[in-house]
Amino acid sequence: MAASIPGIHHVTCITKDVQKCTDFYVGVLGLRFIKKSINQDLPDTYHIYFGDYLGTPGTAMTFFGWPTWPRQKAGSGQVTTVSFAVPAGALDFWSSRLKKLGVDHRRTSRFDAGAIVLRDADGIELELVGQASDDRWKPWHESPVDRDHAIRGFHSVTLTVAESAATLDLLTSTMGFRKGQKAGNRTRLETGAGGPHAVVDVVESPEGPVGEETVGTVHHVAWRTPDAEAQVSWRDLLMRSGRNVTPVIDRWYFKSIYFREPGGVLFEIATDGPGFTVDEPPEKLGATLSLPPWFQVRRDQLDEILPPIVVPTTATTEGHSPACHAAGP
Ligand code: ZN
Repeated sequence: MAASIPGIHHVTCITKDVQKCTDFYVGVLGLRFIKKSINQDLPDTYHIYFGDYLGTPGTAMTFFGWPTWPRQKAGSGQVTTVSFAVPAGALDFWSSRLKKLGVDHRRTSRFDAGAIVLRDADGIELELVGQASDDRWKPWHESPVDRDHAIRGFHSVTLTVAESAATLDLLTSTMGFRKGQKAGNRTRLETGAGGPHAVVDVVESPEGPVGEETVGTVHHVAWRTPDAEAQVSWRDLLMRSGRNVTPVIDRWYFKSIYFREPGGVLFEIATDGPGFTVDEPPEKLGATLSLPPWFQVRRDQLDEILPPIVVPTTATTEGHSPACHAAGP
C-alpha cells in the first residue's frame, strides 16, 4: 500500500443557501460548478460541488445544502480554515477583485507565503495562499477569473483541536504526514510530495469553543487514495491503530471511508476515481441533477423538492452584487 496519503481529495462544508454559495464560489472565486447532486444520507437535500474544470482530486470544495439548520462559528474538533492555492504574484489581483466585489478580507502570511483571509457566504473562513502548483490543475476557460490568477485547488486545511498530541501522532505515525515548521500553537505537516494540496496545519486551542456540525462549518476533509485496493489497506491500518472506521461506501464519483481523528475532526479517505465525469461529459459537468443509479427512482420527486440553482456566467459576474456574501456570522 501507499506509504502516505498523497494529499487532499475534497473538502465538504454546510451551507444554508445553495444559490448564495454558488454565487460566491463561481461568481467571486471563479471555481467551476461541477456537480449538482444530493446528500446520499439526507437525499432530499443538495450536495453541490465546485472545482477546477474536471473537479480533479485536490480541487473540489463541496457543500451540503441544509437551509433549516442554524448557523454557528466553527470551533475545535473541526477544519476551521480552508486554504486555496493561487500563484504568488496573484495576491494583489485578488485583493482588488475582492474589494471591487465588496468582500471583506485582509492580507496575512502563512509561514513562507503571503495570503488573503476572507469568509464565504456562510461565514466559513477561507484563505488564498500565494503558493501554487499547476501539476494536476485543469483550468476552466470560462471562469470569471483569468488563468494567470485562478485558484489552483487547495493549498491546505487547518484543523483546530483542543489537544494536538494524539492528532499529530495519527497523522505522522499512521497516515504518513511529516512534521514541518511550527509557529506558536500552529504545527504544519506535509504529506506525499508536499506543497500545495498536501499540507495540513494543526492548531491547538484548549479553550474551545467546541465546534458543532452546522451551517457555516466544514463537515469533513477527505484525503486521497489512488484506488479501492489502497483504500482497504488504509481501512485495515486505521482499524489496527484504534480508529473506528466505516465500511467502504460507494459515493458514485468515488468510494469513501470515514473516521474521526482523535481531536474530533471527521476524516474521509476517498478514491481518486472514477471522478465526476462518470455520469456527465466534461463539457456538461453540473448541468443537470446527477443521481447515483440507486437514487434514479426518486428523480421526479427530487426535481420537485429541490430548489433551482442558477450558476452565474462570466457575463453576469461582471456586474456581480456583493450583497449576498457580505454577511458573516
Ligand atoms: Zn466527502
